[in-house]
Formats: sequence, C-alpha cells, structure tokens
Amino acid sequence: MKVVVFSTKKYDRQFLEAANVDHNHELVFLEPQLNELTASLAEGFPAVCLFVNDIANAQTLATLAANGTRVIALRSAGFNNVDLHAAAAVEIKVVRVPAYSPYAVAEHTVGLILMLNRKLYRAYNRVRDDNFSLDGLLGFNLHGRTVGIIGTGKIGLIFARIMHGFGCSLLGYDAYPNPEFEAIGASRYVELSELLENADILSLHCPLLPETHHLINANTINQMKPGVMLINTSRGGLIDTKAVIKGIKTGQIGYLGIDVYEQEDNLFFEDLSDTVIQDDAFQQLQSFSNVVITAHQAFFTRDALESIARTTLSNLTDFEQGHPCANEIKATKKVAVMGSV
Ligand code: NAD
Repeated sequence: MKVVVFSTKKYDRQFLEAANVDHNHELVFLEPQLNELTASLAEGFPAVCLFVNDIANAQTLATLAANGTRVIALRSAGFNNVDLHAAAAVEIKVVRVPAYSPYAVAEHTVGLILMLNRKLYRAYNRVRDDNFSLDGLLGFNLHGRTVGIIGTGKIGLIFARIMHGFGCSLLGYDAYPNPEFEAIGASRYVELSELLENADILSLHCPLLPETHHLINANTINQMKPGVMLINTSRGGLIDTKAVIKGIKTGQIGYLGIDVYEQEDNLFFEDLSDTVIQDDAFQQLQSFSNVVITAHQAFFTRDALESIARTTLSNLTDFEQGHPCANEIKATKKVAVMGSV
C-alpha cells in the first residue's frame, strides 16, 4: 500500500524501512508536519503515517479524505492530535501503537529524578570546567521518600516498581485502580488530595483527557508538600505552566522535570539553536536552575523505535488485507477528545 510518512526524521526512516522488509509497503518519507497547509501532500495515498505533533483536525481530515486517504497510522500511543469524530465522519480509520516500550518512558522518568536530585547537569559541566567544588550540589536520599504516582497504567506501574527498588513508599491515584500496583508493596491507592499532600516526588502518568487537562494548577500546587519534585513525562497539557512557574518562584515546587510541554509542537523535535525562541513561558522555565527539560525523548530507545515501526506497519497490513485491527481507535465517549502520546 502507498503510505506517506509525515514528520520524518532520519531514525523514523531507518526503523520503518527495516521493518518494512516484512510488509513491502510503498513508503514515501516527508519531513513536514501534517496540518491544514500540508495535507494536500498526501494526495493519492490511501495511508498516512503520523507522529505526535502532526495535527489531523477536521479541516485536514476533510482534505485527506477528498484526496483518497482511508487510514491514518499513528506511530504513537497518543491520539489527542487526531479529531476522531471528524475522522469517523469522513470514513478514515485511525490505528495506533498502544504500547511500544513502557520501560523506555519509566526509565527516563527515573533519569529526570536522579538528574534533578543530584544536580547531575551542573556536576557534569562543573567537572568539565575543572571546578570540583560540591557547593550547590546537595541532594537527598530517595530511600524512604514518598513518591506519588498519578496514573498507574503500563508506564506508571513500571515506574512504581523501579521506585520501590529505591526503597520509596508509593502513593497511587488512578481513575481505574490496578491491583498490580498495590501488589508491589509499600504502595497504596489514596485520594488525589492525600497524594498531593504527602508526596515528596510527584510523577504524572495519566493520559491527557478533558478531565485531566491542567490537573496540576494553582489549587493542586497549593496542596503539595513545600519543595515537592514534580515530574511530567506524560503530556504537557496536564500542567498549567503559568501556575507551575509561580510555584517554582515561591519555592512551593522545589524541582521540576519535564519531557513534555503544552506548547511543544512549536518547539520539540527541531533544531532551533539558530533562532530566538518566542515562547516566554518556556524561556522562563529554562532560566530556573531547578528545572530540567528534555524534548519529548522519553520514548526514544532503539527497542521502542523497533516496536513502533513493527506495529505501525502491521496495522497498515491489517487494514490493507481487510482484517480487523486490534489497534484501531474509535471516537467513543471515553476517548472523545484527547488521548495519550
Ligand atoms: P496507560 O493507558 O497504560 O495508563 C494510563 C493510566 O492513567 C491508566 O491506569 C488509567 O486508568 C489512568 N487514568 C485515566 N484517567 C485518569 C484520571 N482522570 N486520573 C488518574 N488516572 C487516570 O498509558 P501508559 O502507556 O502508561 O502511558 C501513560 C502516559 O505516558 C500516556 O498518557 C502518554 O501521555 C505518556 N507517554 C509519554 C511518552 C513520552 O515519550 N514522553 C511516550 C509514551 C507515552
């Protein structure tokens, strides 16, 4: 099948071409993001392959459908960038990669915690400058601390197990509690308010849904332990960035580690080192010494890319052969507006 791949990076091409040996799709790689302006590039392609910052809104979907597209294959778990109702209306199916490597994201989350706590970013630069002073590098033991985990699904559960290995107590909050979380030991589900009040480290692993949008806001930040470490490797929209900036300035938030940012589609995955970043909130976050930002790389392991490529192409093969695809997503009440990456 003819497949046009938007937002192609070198690594996408490498892993998709390797996996395509088993499928023989006709893959055409494009660098631009999909949006209303670029949708016409998909003319004549029954299949369109997208990543997290490609925008398939109603207008884009109408153009795709008019030009012959019948399926969108997301090479991500999240689908908040696709208007599922509009896709159904123009009879475009949407398939995704529901799980590729929850370990990749959970492990990166732990990386951010260690980086912030032990100030590894400062230590690395200092030693390279032959500055061997320890002033300003003071951390705390993770052992014995309380970690609050919002969303104990695939990634949250693995993250919980790793933090249990560090000797942390675990508080979980989930709309759909998972018995595997409580089986870890030193772990229990609590109400959100109890988690906020008691967590030394708070990590977000729930999807972005209408009810979780700006879950971290002025009100919830006020309920947190002063000096809390807040980590978000889930979705930028879970956090009200302005409220978090205020929280950092007052000291209520002692550390912030983020791999996702609400306005990331204007920034992430591109080399903007020769441009002036116009996003003031992002620039302000960058200026704080207790903030570490990575650019949506938590998923980025060889294992995850192999798995994404394999599942994406087999989803497309299912579609081409008219087989039902277990990874199809449809607009239902629960997933009506936003999903996860
Ligand atoms: P998952 O579906 O397995 O788990 C999500 C959990 O959140 C579920 O247990 C669900 O019950 C819970 N949840 C749903 N609504 C909730 C609510 N209102 N309050 C609290 N909990 C709620 O998903 P996953 O594979 O573990 O992924 C978690 C998140 O990680 C995704 O939503 C995605 O945004 C993010 N992600 C990020 C990257 C990255 O590279 N940074 C990569 C993949 C996924």
